[in-house]
Amino acid sequence: MTSPTQPTGASLWHAQAHMPTAVRKRVTIVEGRGATVITEDGAELLDAPAGLWHANVGHGREAIARVAYEQMLKLETYHVFGRFVNDVALSLADRVTALGPVPDAKVFWSSGGSDSVDLACKLARRHWQLEGRPDKRIILSRNNAYHGLHGFGTSIAGLEYNREGYGSDSLIPETARIPTNDLAAAEAMIAELGPGRIAAVVAEPVIGTGGVIAPAPGYLEGLQRLARQHDILFIADEVITGFGRTGAMFACERFGLEPDMMLMAKGLTSGYAPLGGVLVGRRVWDRFFSSDDAPMLRHGITYSGHATACAVAHANLDILEQEHLLERSAELEGVLHNAIQPLADHPLVAEVRSGTGFLAGVQLRADVLGEAVVDACLDAGLLTRLIHNNTLHICPPFVVTDDEVSFIAKTIRVALDTFTA
Ligand code: PLP
Repeated sequence: MTSPTQPTGASLWHAQAHMPTAVRKRVTIVEGRGATVITEDGAELLDAPAGLWHANVGHGREAIARVAYEQMLKLETYHVFGRFVNDVALSLADRVTALGPVPDAKVFWSSGGSDSVDLACKLARRHWQLEGRPDKRIILSRNNAYHGLHGFGTSIAGLEYNREGYGSDSLIPETARIPTNDLAAAEAMIAELGPGRIAAVVAEPVIGTGGVIAPAPGYLEGLQRLARQHDILFIADEVITGFGRTGAMFACERFGLEPDMMLMAKGLTSGYAPLGGVLVGRRVWDRFFSSDDAPMLRHGITYSGHATACAVAHANLDILEQEHLLERSAELEGVLHNAIQPLADHPLVAEVRSGTGFLAGVQLRADVLGEAVVDACLDAGLLTRLIHNNTLHICPPFVVTDDEVSFIAKTIRVALDTFTA
């Protein structure tokens, strides 16, 4: 059946939405070109959040579409359960493990960020069980953290509202949160819970959905040190920061981190197909690979290592390399920082957070109606959205021009001015 040309849309339940408002103010995107998207009414909007932090190489890439087409004609996919695999999942595994910050890594493919989070948390618990330390089950995460919305991701969320209503405290028991950027408090929490009960600590190198919060100087390195000291696995959630968002291939490189596991999704394919993965260090994978009586990891989903998604990831990585987009992202970090920081003086702005990676958050004062500001930006040709704490989400595709970055800052200022006049 072909879809109707004029969908009523009455049947769709949007994600993370207050549905009556979402239906009333729906923005339907029908096309994308570079850093711009086009609505069903023909309005051209600069896509400041790159979709959901994913469209790193920009929209409308013909080269990626062709690769997907060719791969689907040859083999849409084949699963990777048991002894069966597809050739593209294999070749992408070699390529991505060679790029990653985890030495001598294996990769377990997933179909997105939340899948990667759940796998890493399961694997951390399974690791300690097989080490003969089954009491090590607690997963630590940070206040303000967002790790997707599957079981573990919901439970370790540092945004309280994402856990509400799914259980007394969390969906999956034995999770705890540490303050966002306070190493001494993290150390105290580890001592209080007991390192003998903690399996892993999970951290986004730069917190995204929680409001764009950079790590305090030395914080991530210190957190990794604490984890090592107490025999706790260190997991870096690079679902947003991976594949160039902080100017390096991975933020772990930028901060000198060598995690036991690293999570990826979004920028792996720039959103052209759903794909995620977990890079796993030798400490964790060794026992699963090394002997005839090796245990099995009872995990997998039908589309782990989906062949077309993996082919798309190859094409996306080719573009990152050929167009030197990591270097461009590093350059754009400064361009955005310089353009956006002056907004901090605006009376309706509480704080502007930028300068660590090519992403920024403009936090509006709590009493400012953020959705009205988003509306004014949309009317002026800028797509932005609200994330935690009334914060405007800015993390454009790496193909924006310097002028387009200036346009983002100018448009937000003009939009804010209409509410102060
Ligand atoms: N981890 C982080 C840091 C994220 O930002 C997200 C999504 O925004 C996820 C995990 C979940 O990814 P997905 O929505 O692909 O499941």
